[in-house]
Amino acid sequence: SGATAKDILALAESQGVRFLRLQFTDILGINKNVEVPASQFPKALAGDMLFDGSSIEGFVRVEESDMLLKPDFSTFRVFPWGDPQQRVARVICDVTMFDGSPFAGDPRQVLKRQVARAAEMGFVMNAGMEAEFFLFRPAVDGGAGTLTHDVGGYFDLAPMDRGEDARRAIVATLEQMGFEVEGAHHEVAHGQHEIDFRYADALTTADNIATFRFVVKHVAQQFGLVASFMPKPVFGQNGSGMHTHQSLFAKGENAFFDAKAEYQLSKVAHHYIGGLLKHARGMSAITNPLVNSYKRLVPGYEAPVNVAWSLHNRSPLIRVPSRRGAGTRVELRSPDPSANPYLALAVMLAAGLDGIATEATSREPVNENIWEMSFRERRRLRIDDLPHDLNEACDELEKDADICEALGPHVTQQFLAAKREEWREYISQVSAWELDRYLAKY
Ligand code: GLU
Ligand code: MG
Ligand code: MG
Repeated sequence: SGATAKDILALAESQGVRFLRLQFTDILGINKNVEVPASQFPKALAGDMLFDGSSIEGFVRVEESDMLLKPDFSTFRVFPWGDPQQRVARVICDVTMFDGSPFAGDPRQVLKRQVARAAEMGFVMNAGMEAEFFLFRPAVDGGAGTLTHDVGGYFDLAPMDRGEDARRAIVATLEQMGFEVEGAHHEVAHGQHEIDFRYADALTTADNIATFRFVVKHVAQQFGLVASFMPKPVFGQNGSGMHTHQSLFAKGENAFFDAKAEYQLSKVAHHYIGGLLKHARGMSAITNPLVNSYKRLVPGYEAPVNVAWSLHNRSPLIRVPSRRGAGTRVELRSPDPSANPYLALAVMLAAGLDGIATEATSREPVNENIWEMSFRERRRLRIDDLPHDLNEACDELEKDADICEALGPHVTQQFLAAKREEWREYISQVSAWELDRYLAKY
């Protein structure tokens, strides 16, 4: 929108806003913010707030630590909780260097670059993300535990679903913050939920996911529950995905739709799918960034394991929902909600655009259940596996020049360094599984 700093100041004044949070995310997708009192609003809105970038994960070294936060006025929102006379609002910011030039390590900047590249090719990306999450009872010490507060399952109704009140409050809060919520339901696992809100252009959707995760956690806490977007918190139960529906529009029309083509999917759609398939392994570290992410991507829990697309069944990586016309889209099912939404959307868009630029082939859809195929049959159909762990995913990212280029050298290096370190730490641990399996036997 065309809001100015003056408009925002007036709005803040009329709504009793006393504190403003300048929000951004670090490379790992964690929300960060600097909060300023009303006396500092003019300075903050002028983009003149300095902060120390060296204390943010993956940002910069101490010597170059002075950075600025430039608010995007269209993202100004008042949090609908707390004392109405002392409201807190937030505005999402771009991170710049002291001289005002964009900071290469700002994830929002990375996404903006791909959005600009799409625009050069004549496209606007629309995306909708379905971020699933769990509501747990807090552990005795008040931290996160993995005891669920209910034993509900998919689409269950109360009284099975005791998270219902919390979920409804989350939806109400999201609506007050301008989200158009399309539906909310209990997911397959105990204590697991999904709230879907309307798709938007890629940047808005990434901003929305960052806000969504924060709101879900905040409201859950008010109900004495702990919300978690960890991809696979409970062994033996479904994990949480962040299925990403995506399409390209050209001149206001859905560029994936072609009424006369096979499956009514345009060439652009086929090449886009081809690009997602081509880079599926290379972008895994971004879309599935935790050690734990790979414990979700195993057979039997509605999460993808193989690199293939399908028109009907739900096991593959890419599904094309039945909707056609303006609603034509592809759903990438691998991402999980621990991903940095800006980087995840940036690499998916980069993969799709590369598919279009190189006329990548989407091959044939695989409509049989891949989990039931033999290894030989998968080989014959050239169906790869997604990376099996974070280490393999890092190797694949390093090998994928297009994805590295989309991220830029700063983010690629910082991200890989953090993830390699995470892997080293994990692999040196002695887990409960190992003790159970080996201690007595050897
Ligand atoms: N929770 C599943 C996953 O890990 C997805 C279930 C669904 O289809 O909504 O991706
Ligand atoms: Mg779901
Ligand atoms: Mg889905």
